[in-house]
Amino acid sequence: MIPPEISVIIPVYNEEDGLPTLFARLYPALDQLDTPYEVVFINDGSSDRSAALLREQYERRPDVTRAILLAANAGQHMAIMAGFEHARGQIIVTLDADLQNPPEEIGKVIDKMREGHDYVGSIRRIRHDNLFRSSASKAMNYLREKITRIRITDQGNMLRAYSRTVVNAINSCKEVSTFIPALAYTFARNPAEIVVEHEERAAGASKYSLYSLIRLNFDLMTGFSLVPLQWFSMLGIVVSLGSAALFVLLIVRRLVVGPEAEGLFTLFALMFFLIGLALFGIGLLGEYVGRVYQQVRHRPRYLIEAILEGDQ
Ligand code: UDP
Ligand code: MG
Repeated sequence: MIPPEISVIIPVYNEEDGLPTLFARLYPALDQLDTPYEVVFINDGSSDRSAALLREQYERRPDVTRAILLAANAGQHMAIMAGFEHARGQIIVTLDADLQNPPEEIGKVIDKMREGHDYVGSIRRIRHDNLFRSSASKAMNYLREKITRIRITDQGNMLRAYSRTVVNAINSCKEVSTFIPALAYTFARNPAEIVVEHEERAAGASKYSLYSLIRLNFDLMTGFSLVPLQWFSMLGIVVSLGSAALFVLLIVRRLVVGPEAEGLFTLFALMFFLIGLALFGIGLLGEYVGRVYQQVRHRPRYLIEAILEGDQ
C-alpha cells in the first residue's frame, strides 16, 4: 500500500445511528481528493454497536480504513491522542463522527495546509447548536483568550488539520488531561484558520453533559495556564487590604461614635461571600492538584483492546 498522505482521525463514542451516513459521505469526499489517505477510527469504549459497525466498515474498505478499539471510555481528546499515535499521514485531520463538520469540507482545510501552514483551525460559519451551548461556548472562548496565550477563534470546533511535525510534538506529550486544539497551537509555528460550514448533529445526542463540558473546560484552563491561581492570590491580597481598611474604619468609628452592634446580617452577607470565595479558591487549587495526582500515577492514558488494520 502507498503510505497515506492524509490521515483522518475520528473518535467514536456511541454513534451507531450516525455511522452509516458518516461512512456514506466521508469516503466519497476523501476519494475525490485524489491523494492517498487513511481513516483512523477510534472507538472510545462505546456500549452500543459502534464497534461492530466500524469492523464492518473496515472489512468493506480495508485498504484505507483502520480502527482502534479502546477497552474503556477515555474521553474524546484521549481517543484522538490514541489516533495521533497511530496515524501515518503527513497531514492529520481530526473530525467528529456526528457529521456536524461536513466531511466535504476536509478538502478546504487540506488546501489551506498546502499553502504552507502547519496547523489549520476552523471557525463555524453559522453554528447549529442550541442557544445555551452557543452562548456558554462564547463565554469560555472569551475566558480562554484572557487567561491563556492560545489564540483560537472557535475552540469547540474539531475539524482541524495538523502537520506531521505538530503531531509528533503532541505525541511526545504525556499529559493525561488535555485539549488537543490548544496543545497543537502551542507547537504550531504558522497556524491559520478558515471558515467552514456546521450542521445539526446527524443522529444521536451530544456526548457532553453540562458536567462533562465544565470538566473539559477546566482541562483547557488548567492545562494551559496558571493565571486562575495567580488571580486568586491577587484577589486574596485585595480582600486582605479591604478588611484591613474596614478594621481601621471600625476602630475610628468606635472612638468617635461609640460601640456598634447592629448590622448583623450585613456581616453574614459579607461572611458568606468570603466563605464562597475561599471555597472556590480551594476547589480551584484542587483542580490543579488533582491533575498533578493523575499525572504522577503514570497509569496508561487509554487501553487498546484491538486494532483493525491490514498488513499495510
Ligand atoms: N466522543 C468520544 N468520547 C467521549 C465523548 C465524545 O469519542 O467521551 C466523540 C463523539 O463520538 C464525537 C465527538 O467526540 O465524534 C464529539 O462529541 P459530540 O458531538 O457529542 O460533542 P459536541 O458536538 O456536542 O461538542
Ligand atoms: Mg457534535
